[in-house]
This record gives sequence, C-alpha cells and structure tokens, in this order.
Amino acid sequence: MAETLKNYIGGKWTASDAKRALDVRNPATGEAIARVPLSTAGEVRSAVAAAKAAFPAWRETPPLVRARYMFRLKALLEEHFEDLARTVTAEHGKIIDEARGEVRRAIENVEVAAGVPSLMMGYNAEDIAVGIDEDCVFQPIGVFACVAPFNFPAMVPFWFLPYAVACGDTYVVKPSEVCPMSQSRLFELLDAADLPPGVVNLVNGDKEAVDALLADPDVAGVSFVGSTPVGRYIYATAAAHGKRAQCQAGAKNALVVMPDAVIDRTVAAILTSAYGTAGQRCLAGSLVVAVGDVYEPLKAELVRAASRIKVGDGLDESTQMGPVVSKKSLDRILSYIEKGLAEGARLLLDGRKVKVEGYPNGYFVGPTLFDCVRPEMTIAREEIFGPVLGIVRVDTFDEAVATIEALPYGNAASLFTSSGKWAREFRYCVPCGNVGINVGIAAPIASFPFAGMKDSFFGDLHGQGRDAIQFFTDRKVVITRWF
Ligand code: NAD
Repeated sequence: MAETLKNYIGGKWTASDAKRALDVRNPATGEAIARVPLSTAGEVRSAVAAAKAAFPAWRETPPLVRARYMFRLKALLEEHFEDLARTVTAEHGKIIDEARGEVRRAIENVEVAAGVPSLMMGYNAEDIAVGIDEDCVFQPIGVFACVAPFNFPAMVPFWFLPYAVACGDTYVVKPSEVCPMSQSRLFELLDAADLPPGVVNLVNGDKEAVDALLADPDVAGVSFVGSTPVGRYIYATAAAHGKRAQCQAGAKNALVVMPDAVIDRTVAAILTSAYGTAGQRCLAGSLVVAVGDVYEPLKAELVRAASRIKVGDGLDESTQMGPVVSKKSLDRILSYIEKGLAEGARLLLDGRKVKVEGYPNGYFVGPTLFDCVRPEMTIAREEIFGPVLGIVRVDTFDEAVATIEALPYGNAASLFTSSGKWAREFRYCVPCGNVGINVGIAAPIASFPFAGMKDSFFGDLHGQGRDAIQFFTDRKVVITRWF
C-alpha cells in the first residue's frame, strides 16, 4: 500500500488526523504512489502556532547565522539532487532533465537568499534637520505561508521560503495536493539542516487548509502560485483579513515571429516553449503569431520538428515529452482540442492519436498544432495548460502586438527577430511581465523578480530577488536626536 504523507509541524513529522485523503498518481503509469491527507483547519492552526512560537528567537538570530542555514541547506540539496529530480518526475511526469532543471532553480533561490546579510541592509541619512539623523531598517514581520501549484512541485515554494526564513520570518508551506511528494522530500532536508523547530512547517491539504491559512490572524502574508480564479480569490480573501499577498496566476503566452527571424533557432525555441513539460508551464508559449511572409516556412518547419518529439515516461532519458499530470488534466486538454475544431481551427498535428507502448494507463497526449487560429477563438484566449500550440497569422508587427494586448493575461511574451528596432519596440510596449527576445521561455533567474501583469498577477511585489526581501520585511524609520 502506498505511503501516506505526513505533515511537518514544530520540527516533528506528524500523521494527519484528516478524514479526507487523495491518491497521488504517477502520470506515466496511472499507479498510486502515495496518499496525501487533506489536513483540517485545526492542523493548520497548529502549524501557524508553531511558526508563531518560533518567530521571536528566529527574528533575533543574526542574519549571518540565518544565512549559514541556507549554506547547509544548499549542501544537502546538492547531495540529494538526483533523488529530488526523480521524485518530481515520478509525481508530475515531466522528463527527468526538466526535473533536474527545476531542482537547480530551487537551489538557486537558496543561494540568492544566502545573501541576506547584504540584501536586508537598510539605509540612512545624517542631518535631515540640524543634529537629527534618520535610519530605515528592514525588519521581519512574523508568520508567512505559501499555497503552491502542481506544475513545479519542488521549485515554487522555494521562490518564497528561503527568502522568508533568511529574512527572519517563519513559514508554512501548503503544497499542491496533486503533487505533494517533492515538498515532503525537501522538508526532510530542511529537517536535516537543523533549523530551530517551528521555523518551517508543512501542511498537506486543499481548499480547507488554504481557507484556514487565509483566516488565521497570526499569518502576516501569503504567496500564491496557481490558476487565475483561485489567485483572484486568495488575493481578495487575504486582503479582507488584513494580510499582504502576492498571487502569481495563469497565462496565455504569445510567441511572435517576424519575417527576419532566424528560422531554425526560432523553431527550436518555440518547440521547447510549447511542448516542454507537456505545455504545463506558466511560461509556456501557446500561440505562435506569424507576421507576414514567415507564415508558410515557419508552419512547415514546426510540423516537421514537432512530429519528431518522442513522447513517453519521463524517467526514460530518451523521452522528450512526458505525460500530463492527471486524468482530469488530460480530459480538459482533449476537450479544448474538440473546441478548437468546432470553432474552425485546423489540426496540423493531432496529439490525441499518441500511443506509448507499455504504458496503457498513462495520461499521454502528443504535441498538438492548430493552424487557422483566430484571436477570438476559445483556444486562443483561454489557458489550456497542455501541449497544444495554435498558429495565428497576421500581416504586421502592430497587429501582433494588438493580439497580445487583447489577451486577458500578461505573464510572458516573446519576439523572434534580427531587428533591434522591433525588439526595442516589443519590450517597451507589450503588457507582459516576462519578455523574451529570441528566447522562448522568459524565466527570470532567482535574483530577478518573477514578474506578471493583468490577470497573471495580483499584488505588487513579486516572488524572488529584491521583491522577495521587500515582501518578507517591513520598513521601519527611526529619527534620532541626542540632547
Ligand atoms: P490551482 O489554482 O488549481 O491550485 C493551486 C493551489 O491552490 C493548490 O495548492 C490548491 O490546493 C489551491 N486551491 C485550489 N482551489 C482552491 C480554492 N478554491 N480555494 C483555495 N485554494 C485552492 O492551480 P494548479 O492547477 O495547481 O496549477 C496550474 C496553474 O498555475 C496554471 O494556471 C498556471 O499558469 C499557474 N502557474 C502560474 C505561475 C506564475 O508564476 N504565474 C507559475 C506556475 C503555475
């Protein structure tokens, strides 16, 4: 029987007494590989209480000493790197190389957070009036929490936790109930890093646990990553309870190709963007906007290259695209393909036909490519979150930008061109947080904010980098005069 995951509260692994639980399935085989408890509001309360109790001493721990825990954690993460990557693939399905990339990105956030003794420095001015000086210090606030999505089960909580902890706050992670195993593995390493009990806590669960975090008066702030409707709800509910919140949400990302683009490099970048992680990345390109004459050669090359992508079990090193995460996701993606056909788009590649030998119960859908997509179609406006790419044909650069402006989302957009003028124009005007120029996945490294605009982000301070330091601290101003 598959192992039931535990919570980690106040430095101890604790079996949940929840009545509700779910199977966690390997998406390549459909087999249940763990059970995840859907913890109660009472269990969330215990985790928040443990975090609250740990805060005063942790806050007084010098930043240099807090940073040393990050160095210890980094060493443990390196030691268990491959095992973590394999856990990500087992529960999520992404290919092992993508899982390694994800774990690397998680580690990079620990590395940046280790710079907290400098990152948290305030500023000051002498003689703001005669004989009076003014200082601004950055202070930790208390207990913070994150609510995470399924698609980067190891990395996403690490966009937040290392910064919060390094800044002197204490933390509660609520992982995705679809892919909760990677966080359990990571918390074993946090435990081995010997952080004082209560500094970091893990509570498995679903909406009940999230609502308990949002209503708890001892939670100062919440970081959310997930779909737009839930992000909007969490932002509004957190605000109604007087908390700060940063909510990174859904996406519909366009990849604009100009006639002067370098075609082979552009096609390679588009394929990785659209079909990497089986399209389940918030930065995945899902619309190719072909400008003018590039349309025919681009289309031919996309079909040729995408039809060669090898679909299979992510743990097989030769696989280029794994399954999607669940039966529910598979059904949603298939229904979008039906919808695209019904609205008049033309299928150039039909992923519904894919068969993976030896994996009859896996949630596989192959690379799917639609032509004749018009901006008003459902498949051009809604987030499909699967390996489905649509080609929109336009005549001019301005029409391409207008297509992006009309989308409700503003997570990412890319331009492929050899022209500095178009590149400058594009980065200046597109209303998207993460912009790629000849880059298909505009993923910010840990020292930069993971941006987002419009329905892709609710809040002002983003995850990672300097924004994270600001989110997890308050600015206190001290004005001093000595008689
Ligand atoms: P989701 O919104 O279904 O779930 C995210 C989290 O919210 C989970 O922990 C879940 O338990 C919780 N949740 C779900 N419904 C809730 C409710 N009604 N009330 C309270 N909490 C609830 O998202 P998902 O399917 O896990 O992840 C995919 C989504 O995440 C996509 O839309 C993707 O674009 C987005 N995403 C965005 C970013 C970004 O940085 N903008 C990054 C990764 C993923």
